Amino acid sequence: MQTTAHPRARVDLGLELGGTKVVAVLATPEGVVLEQSRRERWTTGDPARDLEGLVAQARALLAARGLADASLRAIGVSAPGPLDAARGVVLAPPNLPGWRDVPIVDALGRALRAPARLENDANAAALAEARAGAGQGARSLVYMTMSTGIGAGVIVDGALVRGAHSQAGELGHVPVVEDGRRCACGLRGCLEAYTGGAAIAEQLREAVAAGRETAALELAGGEPRAISARHWCAAIRRGDPVSLELRAAFIRHLARGLAFVLATVDPDIILLGTIVREHPDLFLEAIRARVRELTLPELHATPIVPAALGPRLPVEAALAVAALVDARRA
Ligand SMILES: [Zn+2]
Repeated sequence: MQTTAHPRARVDLGLELGGTKVVAVLATPEGVVLEQSRRERWTTGDPARDLEGLVAQARALLAARGLADASLRAIGVSAPGPLDAARGVVLAPPNLPGWRDVPIVDALGRALRAPARLENDANAAALAEARAGAGQGARSLVYMTMSTGIGAGVIVDGALVRGAHSQAGELGHVPVVEDGRRCACGLRGCLEAYTGGAAIAEQLREAVAAGRETAALELAGGEPRAISARHWCAAIRRGDPVSLELRAAFIRHLARGLAFVLATVDPDIILLGTIVREHPDLFLEAIRARVRELTLPELHATPIVPAALGPRLPVEAALAVAALVDARRA
């Protein structure tokens, strides 16, 4: 990895890799966004070509500002797991086709001649919320992404906790039900199998297949395969009984996961992203009440709040990873 940067280096590059889109952003080291761009359906199945695309996207942003590669202070990459942050390698994310053991930190660092860092998207989001969102000022926080899958980023005393195998914060895969539903990871009874957006949609489809009526199906245009967590939330608002049952289970299982986190980390604050951030009125009070029932009194005052960044999260997450590159060494 290239670790010596040009003396005039002054901008950070952030890349947020998603299954359907990639966001690139150029900002000052303080986080003031200068340029950004987004590409849809950016993966080709060939990671070498995908990396070339990322380099070209970065250079286009630099060119828009009249800057050369030498202006880059640091590169931050937020990517879906599994990945090895310490080695800077993306392992085999299910939603990045063809990507297997891709040394993205080395590849981008060499091509763009700047030091690069890689974190999984949940960790990057936790760093972003700590830097620019609802976690500002907190020494310790847990951020939970409540999207298609479930993950967490854990920051303790100002430092990200990665763990011995880059698995710290994989809360989606703690067992909340013994011999419960099969999870996408292959295990049974995982938190994600009850609270992940994909699992919620799957349970709605199962209800439909079992002959139950649910407003979620109507909201999905009558097509079971089209049912998503978005339809679920809309159906809850209509008072749909099946969706309300799933909400009760969601709250019960999530609260159990949060109780484990509270007892393990005892953070200053817990931030809930995605579904809970978008629909706090549907979930938040009930989650807090259930967590209080499951935790020791000393933990009852810990705020459980919606994450703050929302649409800004991809950009801020990638920049927060770039900010991990030591400014003195860069
Ligand atoms: Zn699992």
